[in-house]
This record gives sequence, structure tokens and C-alpha cells, in this order.
Amino acid sequence: MTDAPQAAVFLDRDGVLNDPVPDPVDGRAESPLRAADVALAPGAVAGLAALIDTGLPLVVVSNQPAAAKGKVADENLLAVHDRVVALLAAEGLEIADWRYCFDHPRALDVARRDCACRKPRPGLLTAAAADHGLDLGASWIIGDTDADVGAARAVGATAVLVEHPDTAHRRSPDLVADAVVPDLAAAAAWVAARVDRHVALR
Ligand SMILES: [Mg+2]
Ligand SMILES: [Zn+2]
Repeated sequence: MTDAPQAAVFLDRDGVLNDPVPDPVDGRAESPLRAADVALAPGAVAGLAALIDTGLPLVVVSNQPAAAKGKVADENLLAVHDRVVALLAAEGLEIADWRYCFDHPRALDVARRDCACRKPRPGLLTAAAADHGLDLGASWIIGDTDADVGAARAVGATAVLVEHPDTAHRRSPDLVADAVVPDLAAAAAWVAARVDRHVALR
């Protein structure tokens, strides 16, 4: 055994674990804002099971600015979180660590406008690394937008971009991921093929 920093897998939530839903105003895919709107994304169950099998620590890192922008109450976001956790639990899947940024540059509350944790800023990642002794440079980030790739770049992690069909408007050709895959099942397979199991399971 050793206390050396350990690689981890950071997972974005919307577009990776669960499907986004159309915004009622402009029709664009956004985070679900009601528990009843939550559905697991294609490949999420198989992919998460495969990631759990790697033995690597898993941490969810997600931007959830809707309450800060005044679109919903904080309770809505908590209810959505609970629903995602429950749907995964119904499949026998559990993630120990969920980290959210609830801030936004146009937040009604000025104090929530300039945070260190809204992806692509790395605050959620660095906080998890400090709490768990993680080696961010040896870690993976799986997400469906430029913000996820940017957060990976900010800490030297490996970026796996999931091309959820509903969130193409949040991906540009400017940020190049280390792998581009269709869903979490494919992302997990790509990561698992690169995990040093001796390291992961020590
Ligand atoms: Mg996402
Ligand atoms: Zn934040």
C-alpha cells in the first residue's frame, strides 16, 4: 500500500449520466430542472458499471447554474440530483462523491458570479483531489461539452468527450479531446483499456 496520489475518473452529469431536456423557452437541451424529467442517458448504466469495475475513484463534477439565474429554486436542483442517484441505485450503481457548481456569471446574487469551480475552471477537480489525494494529471474527465475538455486541460487530465446528440451546440472544434466517443459505455471502454490495473487495484 502507498499513499501516493491516485488516478480518478471525473464524470460530468448532464449528457453523460442523464439526458438533457429541451428548454421550454428556446428548445435547446439543458439540465433537467424537475425530478420527473430525469432519464438516464444511453450507455450510462453499462458505462458506469464498467468504470466501477476499474476500481478507480469516481467523482461527478457538474455545473448547475439554473437556480443562480433564477430559473428554478435550489430545491429543484436537489430533487434532480436525488432522482439521478435513485435511478442509478435502481441499477445497482453508486457514485460516492458528487460535486456541483451552483454559480453563474449572470447570477442574481453577485456573490455567485465569479467562482473558482464553474467548469472549465478546475475548482471542483482540485477540491476533490485535495480531499481524496488524487493525481489529476493521471486522471480522466468524461464530459459532453467544451467546459469539460477545458477543465481537463486546466489540470493536465485526459479528456474524453461524449458526443451526446442533443448537446452539439456546446462543443466547438477549438478544443480537442484525447478521445471522442458516442456515450458513456464507449468512454468507459476507452478508459478501462488504459488503466494500469496494478495501480488501480493496489
Ligand atoms: Mg454535460
Ligand atoms: Zn462555482
